[in-house]
Amino acid sequence: MSKTSFPSKAGVLIVGAGPAGSIAAYELARLGIDVTIIDKAKFPRGKTCAGGVNIRTLHLLPFDLSSIVEEVITGISFTQNLEEPFLRRYPEPLTVTVRRDIFDHFLVQQAQQAGAHFFDGTQFLSLLEKNESVQVETSYGTFLARFVLGADGSNSAAAFILPLRRKRGPIQKGRCLLLGGAAGLINPFTGEGLYSAIRSAQIAARVLAQTLKDEGQSLPAYQEAVDRELMPHLECSRLFREIFNLRPSFFHQKIARSDRWWNAMAQVLRGEKTFLDVKNKLGFLGTLLLQFAK
Ligand SMILES: Cc1cc2nc3c(=O)[nH]c(=O)nc-3n(C[C@H](O)[C@H](O)[C@H](O)COP(=O)(O)OP(=O)(O)OC[C@H]3O[C@@H](n4cnc5c(N)ncnc54)[C@H](O)[C@@H]3O)c2cc1C
Repeated sequence: MSKTSFPSKAGVLIVGAGPAGSIAAYELARLGIDVTIIDKAKFPRGKTCAGGVNIRTLHLLPFDLSSIVEEVITGISFTQNLEEPFLRRYPEPLTVTVRRDIFDHFLVQQAQQAGAHFFDGTQFLSLLEKNESVQVETSYGTFLARFVLGADGSNSAAAFILPLRRKRGPIQKGRCLLLGGAAGLINPFTGEGLYSAIRSAQIAARVLAQTLKDEGQSLPAYQEAVDRELMPHLECSRLFREIFNLRPSFFHQKIARSDRWWNAMAQVLRGEKTFLDVKNKLGFLGTLLLQFAK
């Protein structure tokens, strides 16, 4: 990219072209909103990730992924301290896997086709909020945007949060929103973050489009929606991780011997059920445990 081709203004600037950034850009561009994404890496770029896209996430994506799916996973091998191995299979796919360099490149290309501008090899450095806009310093120069989305992953430069977001800390401030990993939206039990990255991007795009239309102050609706829709599930996952860590051997045995336990786990992995459903099944005890885990 030459310096002259780098724009100096946009309606929305998105920092980070992972799944959160690309999906937000795709949704905004489809609504005719002027949107630019920057990423410090040159694309396609690798990303440390198991590449598991669960069934719930597949349904959330507005594209068909079949051309880039590597494997369809229908079973899991379990061990405890590399001992007592066993294999469990499920009649339906538990998850599909993708290579993140290919998947992320595919998503950003969809955003570009929808009309988003993309500049890779461009690093976010800092931002300063002004009256009606945000001034962003990048490795390619200064950029003025009406709104900024921080989608730069779990080591976000704009953020203060490490996975999982603790105590529902702020993910919206002024004209800036944090999405996906940058907002600490990670499932602490499974390590899965793609669903929350994509869903938070979709929520952000909807709220931003409304804000641009109304010229109003509706950005707090983003955090409210994330708190309502995503956080209860993620907080419950943390609770179950804590319970699991108390006695992993007990769960190891249960999953080996009980079809009921294995089926419940498979449904959680597929995304058909969440730990919130499991907590709700526990009734008052579940609510009490969750209060301790928060
Ligand atoms: C070991 C491991 C395994 C995982 N396995 C799975 C799995 O199987 N399934 C699953 O659902 N989740 C998994 N996750 C979680 C998943 O990788 C994340 O939740 C997901 O990538 C978050 O997406 P994102 O778009 O928010 O951020 P990211 O995918 O992290 O993208 C952030 C982007 O921002 C860019 N960026 C960063 N800083 C700057 C800057 N200063 N300027 C410009 N650009 C910047 C980066 O280059 C990157 O492209 C795993 C995570 C780890 C660590």
